[in-house]
Amino acid sequence: MTTPRLTIDLGKIEHNARCVVGFCRANGIDVSGVTKVTCGHPEVAKAMLRGGVGMLADSRLENIRRLRTAGIDTPFMLLRIPALSAVEAVVETVDLSLNSELVVLEALSNAAQRRDRIHDVIIMVDLGDLREGVWPDDLNALVKAASVLPGIRIVGLGTNLACFGGVVPGEDNMHRLAKLADEAEQILGRELEWISGINSSGLELIAAGKMPARVNHARIGEGILLGRETTQRKPWPDTFQDAFVIHAEVLEVIRKPSQPMGERSEDAFGGLTSFEDRGDELRALLNLGRQDIDVGGIAPCEPGAVILGASSDYLVVDVSAATGTIRVGDELTFSPNYSALLSAMTSDYVQKVVLDESKPDDRRL
Ligand SMILES: *Cc1c(COP(=O)(O)O)cnc(C)c1O
Repeated sequence: MTTPRLTIDLGKIEHNARCVVGFCRANGIDVSGVTKVTCGHPEVAKAMLRGGVGMLADSRLENIRRLRTAGIDTPFMLLRIPALSAVEAVVETVDLSLNSELVVLEALSNAAQRRDRIHDVIIMVDLGDLREGVWPDDLNALVKAASVLPGIRIVGLGTNLACFGGVVPGEDNMHRLAKLADEAEQILGRELEWISGINSSGLELIAAGKMPARVNHARIGEGILLGRETTQRKPWPDTFQDAFVIHAEVLEVIRKPSQPMGERSEDAFGGLTSFEDRGDELRALLNLGRQDIDVGGIAPCEPGAVILGASSDYLVVDVSAATGTIRVGDELTFSPNYSALLSAMTSDYVQKVVLDESKPDDRRL
């Protein structure tokens, strides 16, 4: 098989989805499955749906179109705040979008009206992570102004944490969200369907029994795909962390000194790395580089292997302490974190191979 490649185990993703969805549901929370890190991969999305997610959510219209074209018939949520220039496509492509700007809501309303549609929106409020969302002081005014727009319907209030500022979902910010939802409902004169409080960083708060009952919606990507909560990246109980595995091929295995020889200046990426003298090392050169993946986000599966560095096309691995014998032509495998998964899914140079239990031949690699 060609290398480098990323294997995607659909059975593990389905299992993880079932596990996270069941846990959230038992706590009164409906889960939307977030596919953006896989660039809206249709098989991954279907595995999430088999695992019970109520809706699919992605940050990019291109990804959502790909999923719809693949015949996936389910409600879609657009996660990224829509560009003003994209409102027509948003109304055309998704059932529900997350929003924070009145001018965009007005444009969405107009675009929906032109199509005789009502576009559903969740208003995003910034509770301190400082990425998207209206500032809490300005929420009520926004809700009031948006409530009269004929082409949109405000169906919820949401917030996003732990993405930019690393702010952890806790009792304080979640209670604040619930209170803001009460105020919005006063203005609207009706109940909101969704209080969308969390992403994968909120799983711990639910497990601690501290999530306010009003929070009834979660947007979960990493928790399902990599089986981790995201405040400390702890494995989530009963889930797989290895649904995605990167395979690269050994091009050279040669014993070399651990320190470069000769006068030194910058490396290919402008870095000045210092090298510790550890004597001679058995070094494996692999066909995986920065054009394939965020090399800072992969961990070798081979015990004893240590990543020394990478350039655009090569990964250099110290295999002196590796347990097995490593030869040219062998494959080494690596476990990607979220950032590495995102880059590998986005790179055209990494082949994606879906492992599906219903097609056992795929499993023989
Ligand atoms: C990416 C994203 C998520 C999913 O985050 P995970 O940590 O992968 O669960 C949820 N909400 C929004 C708004 C996002 O952009």
